[in-house]
Amino acid sequence: MSSIKKCMVCGYQYDGDQLPKCPVCKFQEINILGDYEKGLKELQPIILQKKQGLANRLQIGMKIFQYELDGTKLVDKGESVVLFDTVTTDDKVHWLDDHLETVSTLDVLDAEVYVQLDDKTYLLNLKTNNMKNADYIQVGIAIDIDFCMRMVVKDDSNNLTQSEKVYIFNGS
Ligand SMILES: [Zn+2]
Repeated sequence: MSSIKKCMVCGYQYDGDQLPKCPVCKFQEINILGDYEKGLKELQPIILQKKQGLANRLQIGMKIFQYELDGTKLVDKGESVVLFDTVTTDDKVHWLDDHLETVSTLDVLDAEVYVQLDDKTYLLNLKTNNMKNADYIQVGIAIDIDFCMRMVVKDDSNNLTQSEKVYIFNGS
């Protein structure tokens, strides 16, 4: 019989018989004696603290493509990764400072987001509608308490659009 456990901190599901602790965030499962609900309530502040601790350990980057105007020709300058500052797990949007251009022929903005934890990188594909008529856009991300991430895009008139939420630690 295998016992699938869900990590109280990062939400990752793993086989508790095979692994002594969560393979993603290394949290050691706490066994609660007696009243489970009551025990869980008492543990809640510790769990929340550990969640924020985990969020602080994440490095989050997004791949962007750079072009440069050479005379009248657009030249591919390659890709680079822009980094987000430390995030919180309260679903608050953290914006990149950079103002980005958008390609007006695309219907969908398709972003590759990297989440680095220790020596592992999780790749997430987040999609939003493209804001075709915007002069520039700003991109933000938010992570909720269950470590699900969404991307939010804002145009120069403060219109917003956002992606669906994706659980971070399923990607690789
Ligand atoms: Zn975990």
